[in-house]
Amino acid sequence: MQHTIALLPGDGIGPEIVQAAVDVLEAVAKKHRHTFAFQSYDIGGTAYDKTGHPLPEETVAGCKAADAVLLGAVGGPKWDTLPGHLRPEAALLGIRAALGLYANLRPAKIYPALKEACPLRTDIAAAGFDILIVRELTGGIYFGERGRGRGPGGEFAWDTEKYSWQEIGRIAEVAFRAAKSRKGKVTSIDKANVLESSRLWREVVHEMAALTPEIECVDMLVDNAAMQLVRNPSQFDVIVTSNMFGDILSDEASQITGSIGMLPSASLGDGTRGLYEPIHGSAPDIAGKGIANPLATILSAAMLLRHSLGLEAEAQTIENAVEAVLAQGVRTGDIAVPGETAVTCAEMTAAVCAAIA
Ligand code: NAD
Repeated sequence: MQHTIALLPGDGIGPEIVQAAVDVLEAVAKKHRHTFAFQSYDIGGTAYDKTGHPLPEETVAGCKAADAVLLGAVGGPKWDTLPGHLRPEAALLGIRAALGLYANLRPAKIYPALKEACPLRTDIAAAGFDILIVRELTGGIYFGERGRGRGPGGEFAWDTEKYSWQEIGRIAEVAFRAAKSRKGKVTSIDKANVLESSRLWREVVHEMAALTPEIECVDMLVDNAAMQLVRNPSQFDVIVTSNMFGDILSDEASQITGSIGMLPSASLGDGTRGLYEPIHGSAPDIAGKGIANPLATILSAAMLLRHSLGLEAEAQTIENAVEAVLAQGVRTGDIAVPGETAVTCAEMTAAVCAAIA
């Protein structure tokens, strides 16, 4: 089958890690007899330098025409002083909005070979965890009404958390669907003891849960969730939550894996087309040195195969290859412990391709 994948390499280490993922996708295509057609577009600071805008129209059109989009990272000190709407990071919000992506999927998993990197107690790390955080991406307090005024207490400011039945229903559906192909448990996180928007959140999630009785559904308050993630992360399978709670909890979850260079993400909307990217940034401090860890982007490519192209076996081929390479002791600098020799980005990529073949 022929599939079209739009590539947005971006800035900093973006081009080298996206090239790594392309090499791995080519290896998968060869093994499973597929054809992937890749087309690259500019985004971020690189796009600004060429066109005066971080998200050129041609990039948006190319992404809309593709079956899936793979992004490296954007940003860097060179563009830090630009006005907000021209900064590289504005292109991320722009492309997500243009593609109608409202669900952010962030897996946080501990690899047996990398347990030493986990900052939690050794017995907790030994129990392992494999969590998928499903975060609502386009609603809630980040997009609600806000303002400033002046009252008896001086200047005041306010932001509004507002969610509709439809917004909650569609993100819950993504979570329940994901749980079906995992351990079958959804933990819905809210603050229903205080917030009215959370009480609606809970009602809608319960309605959705009633439609999928084979999935276990548990409610948890966000303050408790923040504690449980460090106390007993193995209790979680899929977590579904609002934009702001998801923002905070997904960063906490990524930290307990101990390695930012390992974590992929997906942003999905109503159709199958999605945007896939590592959770880390453009790492300007190591850009051009050839030492970036490409695994987060390679694992993002696995998510792309699973969620946009429906190629589950092929996705697992990549994930198994990454596990095998880690088990062999291959490490880039960010995941090497003292005494271990670090390989380059290209060497890590070659090791994953070899494991696939
Ligand atoms: P960062 O994630 O780029 O880097 C943080 C640290 O982690 C650095 O020391 C970096 O070298 C290291 N690191 C990150 N990815 C790595 C990898 N794959 N392999 C090895 N080491 C890796 O975060 P930052 O330094 O706060 O931000 C740098 C730039 O990236 C900023 O301009 C920021 O706005 C941007 N940013 C972009 C995205 C995105 O494109 N989605 C996300 C976050 C930050």
